[in-house]
Amino acid sequence: MNKQYTSNDDVENFDLKKFHESNSSFFDFDTSSMEKGEDAKFNVYSHQWTQISNQIKTKYDYICQGCGWRPNTDDKKKFIHTHHQNGDKTNNSEDNLKVLCIECHANIDGYHARIKSMNGYQEFLKLKNISN
Ligand SMILES: [Zn+2]
Ligand SMILES: [Zn+2]
Repeated sequence: MNKQYTSNDDVENFDLKKFHESNSSFFDFDTSSMEKGEDAKFNVYSHQWTQISNQIKTKYDYICQGCGWRPNTDDKKKFIHTHHQNGDKTNNSEDNLKVLCIECHANIDGYHARIKSMNGYQEFLKLKNISN
């Protein structure tokens, strides 16, 4: 058992093994490598994705690589997405990731067009029209 999972009071009684057994179908990456403390960043999608996504957004300063739009307040950062260029959500290498605003992301292809029905999409279009 890795020390990092038991050092925190909140997870002291947390049975990691049981958790993995009951959630094994939820994770699409190998959780065993994490337990061993190996570098699992290349085959992780689920919970480390947020971290990877934030890293790449920060690197590009939250500027859309499609149209150049950038949020002027923190709450508008939600309109900036991280897109997998080859469609493989398990490939989180930097050259597969692109920082896009919700509009550019929705216009990638027919599959991405479903983003247009997301809550923030219409909100973003209005916002973009005002700030331009
Ligand atoms: Zn854009
Ligand atoms: Zn995408």
